[in-house]
Amino acid sequence: MTEAILEAPEETGNAESQPHKWVYLFEEGNGENKSLFGGKGAGLCEMTRAGLPVPPGLIVTTEACNAYYDNNKQFPDGMWEQVVEALQEIEKKVGKKFGDSDNPLLVSVRSGAAFSMPGMMDTVLNLGLNEETVQGLAEQTGDLRFALDAYRRFASLFGEIVLDVAHEKFERVMDRFKAQTKGGKDTDLQPKALREIIAAEKQIILADQMAIPDDPYEQLRVAIGAVFNSWMGRRAIDYRRINRIPDDLGTAVNVQAMVFGNMGKDSGTGVAFTRNPSTGKKELYGEYLLNAQGEDVVAGTRTPNPITQLKKELPKVYQEFSEITQLLEKHYRDMQDCEFTIERGKLWMLQTRTGKRTGAASVRIAVDMANEKLIDRQTAVRRVSPEQLDQLLHPTVDPKTTTQALATGLPASPGAAQGKVVFSPDEAEEMAKEGEQVVLVRIETSPDDFHGMVAAQAIVTARGGMTSHAAVVARGMGKTCVSGASALDIDYGQHQFSVNGEVVTKGEWITVDGSTGRVFLGKVPTIQPQLGSDFHELMKWADKFRRLTVRANADTPLDAKTARGFGAEGIGLCRTEHMFFGDQRLAAMREMILADGVGAREKALEKLLPLQRGDFCGIFREMAGHPVTIRLLDPPLHEFLPNVDELLGELSELKMALRQARTLADMDHLLDEIDGKRQLLHHVNKIREANPMLGFRGCRLGLLFPEVTRMQCRAIFEAACQMKGERRQVTLEIMVPLVSLSEELAQQKALIDEVARQVMGEHGMTIEYEVGTMIELPRAALTAHKIAEHAAFFSFGTNDLTQTTFGLSRDDSGRFLPAYVDRKILADDPFQVLDTEGVGELVRLGAERGRSVKPNLKIGICGEHGGDAQSIAFCNEIGLNYVSCSPYRVPVARLAAAHAELEARAKADAEVAGGNGKVLEAVGASQL
Ligand code: ADP
Ligand code: MG
Ligand code: MG
Repeated sequence: MTEAILEAPEETGNAESQPHKWVYLFEEGNGENKSLFGGKGAGLCEMTRAGLPVPPGLIVTTEACNAYYDNNKQFPDGMWEQVVEALQEIEKKVGKKFGDSDNPLLVSVRSGAAFSMPGMMDTVLNLGLNEETVQGLAEQTGDLRFALDAYRRFASLFGEIVLDVAHEKFERVMDRFKAQTKGGKDTDLQPKALREIIAAEKQIILADQMAIPDDPYEQLRVAIGAVFNSWMGRRAIDYRRINRIPDDLGTAVNVQAMVFGNMGKDSGTGVAFTRNPSTGKKELYGEYLLNAQGEDVVAGTRTPNPITQLKKELPKVYQEFSEITQLLEKHYRDMQDCEFTIERGKLWMLQTRTGKRTGAASVRIAVDMANEKLIDRQTAVRRVSPEQLDQLLHPTVDPKTTTQALATGLPASPGAAQGKVVFSPDEAEEMAKEGEQVVLVRIETSPDDFHGMVAAQAIVTARGGMTSHAAVVARGMGKTCVSGASALDIDYGQHQFSVNGEVVTKGEWITVDGSTGRVFLGKVPTIQPQLGSDFHELMKWADKFRRLTVRANADTPLDAKTARGFGAEGIGLCRTEHMFFGDQRLAAMREMILADGVGAREKALEKLLPLQRGDFCGIFREMAGHPVTIRLLDPPLHEFLPNVDELLGELSELKMALRQARTLADMDHLLDEIDGKRQLLHHVNKIREANPMLGFRGCRLGLLFPEVTRMQCRAIFEAACQMKGERRQVTLEIMVPLVSLSEELAQQKALIDEVARQVMGEHGMTIEYEVGTMIELPRAALTAHKIAEHAAFFSFGTNDLTQTTFGLSRDDSGRFLPAYVDRKILADDPFQVLDTEGVGELVRLGAERGRSVKPNLKIGICGEHGGDAQSIAFCNEIGLNYVSCSPYRVPVARLAAAHAELEARAKADAEVAGGNGKVLEAVGASQL
């Protein structure tokens, strides 16, 4: 809406005479138009308009960035002239001139995309300095040391960010000179040393065959180009891919008059959140450094002070800052993350944005803000993302552990995780690809390490505070992180770190506790978290908004209990075969499979019957009358038998042993064993299938071996009768797997009904039950109207349906699916996110055709997708009754179902309000 208003005068104006506007002053911009001004720029505009102390500046729009790419990486016509013109306005405001040798204006060049991309495209500070203007700056401020400090920062930032010279090279120079001072800090460097540093920095750049332009305008031009270029840098592309941000949004560039936090003890810089981003507690939470500039706080150059200390050091500034931040929070109705600088006692605001937070903080802040009436409950529910909620369900280190921590750093991002120590992000990525769990250990992280952080279970850094790069990025990803574990002496060259003499080498396991900051050697036991009252409150609100029922996939009484604990409203899938894998059971199962003829098979089945019945009783008890969908035996039988290669190996070992056998008894015994193995091998070979996924499995088993179905149904109905005897409620649904022909279901159902009648007769009881089917083959979806005649319910088995729709097996897809996603042949792995276009179409069609015969047919899904937010939204849209997912995903599914319904209602409301334009508006607004 605001976008339209903003653009309107331009569109109605004379398009011919009016050149396109690429550049806006902060006061001209619009705080709500993040897509044009970027998040940072929009925030600066909003603060400027609200009359807050913001150094003046200009924004080159994202449109200009896109035009730059469309234009063969040339600035679009008129853009540069507009920059120069706007810069003159800024000069007037601050009373300084850009490039002037007496009274130079310095600026920062800051990138800013619509979505905050932490640490992605770095900022150049103090731009406009050269050998002449630095002299002017020194005279203007009467502080030579300061002027040179600003210059050495500019030279390294320009070298690093614009010219892409390695950061370490500059850092080494700084370290060398700092080491020569008494205090060892950057603030201890005197003018002479600073001069030498600047010379050394220029030398480094020269060695890479580049140079910083002397002309400030040229500096600015190159820097703006570099920001544009960074939009298509590897880091940016990686980040966007992981966060599903489209590539064509472009970045804006902010050019802003500098204010200086490095002008002595009454100056400083810092960052603060309006609420605690780790716990959600309502308190001003942040860090600052006096006599420092820009990223010093984040970079871990010195150890920053907690913001509360500012209250003592500069009480008036603290008071003003604290009031401004509260104002911003009220205005944005969300927790803000603010950057500020103090120049000689005066406070300047440099950034405000919605603060990233952990899952726990997200839930607490949403609930608190709703209770404070800052937002309504709908908004509170929509504020918490399914991923954030998922974080809450992650483990913590067992508090009862007696293991001593190896080192303690800052609790930068909560959760507990363990893995093998690696020191390089590339290695972390490689090992993770091999399926290894790794913990990335770094002195500090930079945006270059991002891919390694993604791959790691946890991140540990030796340096840096709570707002260091590692901490911010890890919290955003919900990844466990400990920062500033300064006891770690890391040696990248030797691939090891040492703590108080203990050496830990690459590949050793460590456990990281991001909630307390502890790092342990080895694997320390972890436990599931206790969910607080905020969580339950939020879930209660979410449950009010959702339409979909949420069930769990649970195979054992313990699973069922966990699922109920997380609020599952039933079991959508109980896989009976998982009950056969216990030792004693597997033996009986194999006996059944290898049996020659029905009689022998029935005998083996008799052993399994009481075991199954016991399991069903346990599950029914836990579910206390909530529906339980039991699926009959589904997998191909070879899954219960040993594998051929293993058998062959065992066989040859036995033969070797036979050759060395000394006594006849030994020989006899070995010969018997060899004989047994041979027979087994023979059987295994006999039932071996070229493509078992498409072979003798599912209802095909039950149809050809009806005694198996009989045994399973007997166990189910006997358990149900037993429950009835105990006066317990049972809601029973029996599900036939892998049906593609309606006749398959008809025959299986007849068998189920027959056993039901028998068992009920024996017990003199009636048991209510329903028979339904999985829809997991395209033919079943296509003929759903026929199948529905025999089914009381459908459950879409979207794992198999994805395999059979795509004609690819999930087990073999690892070789090419990741490449497909990389190359954008596929947007997502279809086994994680339902392919709505293809597989989803079959689900929609199956549901429609099924309901065309039975309007009230109960329909759900029970694949992996039942726990995926995007897929849940689709299920909601096409009118399914329930989703079923793994027990730990149940809260996530409940929340996602609420989001889906709220989103749908917002859309529908907007449609009623009229016009398609309104629909877009409502969707846009909901994403804020
Ligand atoms: P990021 O996106 O990494 O937060 P920013 O553009 O916010 O990058 O800037 C990096 C640092 O430089 C921040 O600490 C910011 O406050 C500081 N900074 C940016 N512009 C100015 C300015 N005009 N005057 C003083 N400090 C600035
Ligand atoms: Mg940065
Ligand atoms: Mg910033």
